[in-house]
Amino acid sequence: MSLNWMAEKLRPYEPSIFATIGRLALENKCVNFGQGFPDFDGPRMVKDAACAAISEGHNQYAPLAGTPQIRQALAEKYKQINLDYDADSQISIFNGATQAMYAALTAIVNPGDEVIVFEPTYDTYNPIIEMNGGIPVPVRLHPPSFHFELQELRSAFSPRTRAIIINTPHNPSSRVFTQHELSDIRDLCLEFNCIAITDEVYEYLVFHTEHISIASLEGMSERTIIISSSAKTFALTGWKIGYALAPVAATEAMRRLHQYIAFAVSTPLQLGIARGIERIDTLLPAMIQRLKRKRTLMCNQLEELGFNVLRPQGTFFILADISKLTKLDDISFVRKLIESEVRVATIPVSVFYRDTQTAPKNYIRFCFAKKTSTIEKGLQQLQKIKDL
Ligand code: PMP
Ligand code: GLN
Repeated sequence: MSLNWMAEKLRPYEPSIFATIGRLALENKCVNFGQGFPDFDGPRMVKDAACAAISEGHNQYAPLAGTPQIRQALAEKYKQINLDYDADSQISIFNGATQAMYAALTAIVNPGDEVIVFEPTYDTYNPIIEMNGGIPVPVRLHPPSFHFELQELRSAFSPRTRAIIINTPHNPSSRVFTQHELSDIRDLCLEFNCIAITDEVYEYLVFHTEHISIASLEGMSERTIIISSSAKTFALTGWKIGYALAPVAATEAMRRLHQYIAFAVSTPLQLGIARGIERIDTLLPAMIQRLKRKRTLMCNQLEELGFNVLRPQGTFFILADISKLTKLDDISFVRKLIESEVRVATIPVSVFYRDTQTAPKNYIRFCFAKKTSTIEKGLQQLQKIKDL
């Protein structure tokens, strides 16, 4: 008799869209605009700091909470936006924002609790909520502008609502939530006594607009868990240094879990990122300028090809409406782009919806954090769309 290895709780979950598209891109030798990772390197100064940490012997376990250097650097950084977090009792380092989100949701969700998520929803939230016995409650961001309707958000709240996840800048829509929207969410959090968990991994990647953390709104810092990561800020996705800033009791709960799932995060990489955070003001302008150029290049060319493009306010993704180009749905179109002569990989957006029947099926996502040569090659290959 063969063993059935996989526990029931994991069976509903397929391999992620990013892994699937990544594999297909490789097999079909595609230009890969799929998974969100830069194909250029992060700042030399940050890499040098990590290398120096290794050479100088910082190679043993870090404290559970994270190295004092990175927690202190984060505390200073948040002071600049008038948020006061104590480095010892309110800031914790995790293996990426993904693990921080796992820790935050596991720390606060009891079976039967509802957690509101905006849809399209980044792929990790719903499985983590469900694995903790919680119930995701989706609220749609409506295309083409990907704003929510306040009335729909209000009706998603109930006495069972434990938390709301706010991902801004938002992946995959690339929208940045406005002060007005965040104030509306704040009012509902206060009215229903619920927690905000933010996913701010693209906090620095904003164009012609300002990123606001809901924690900075009056009454919210005491009910918000801020999650972010150095992955996108420094174009170092492989380092997996993420963090959470939260009230003391929430921090204690997250650390209690963390001691059993990892208990420590790479010491020298934390030290490298600490240096990056200390110097972020000098590093960032050039990085943003570079991304802005790529964003413009790619948006303009995609429009010329017949895509209807939502100009990103943040992140390094472009959402492109395919309806003028094809009658196919997003998944079939993405497959066609990969397997035909075009050989370009992108991400279909309908997979980020719970109810795939009613999900919009006319959007695909391009990652533009790529070398200019990669972008140019991909755009050239996309010319072949005309022959499909
Ligand atoms: N949240 C969002 C919205 C993301 O796009 C990503 C991908 N970087 C993550 C979380 C994961 O971040 P990390 O690599 O730090 O786990
Ligand atoms: N955050 C990345 C994206 O949206 C993917 C990370 C992953 O592969 N899970 O593309």
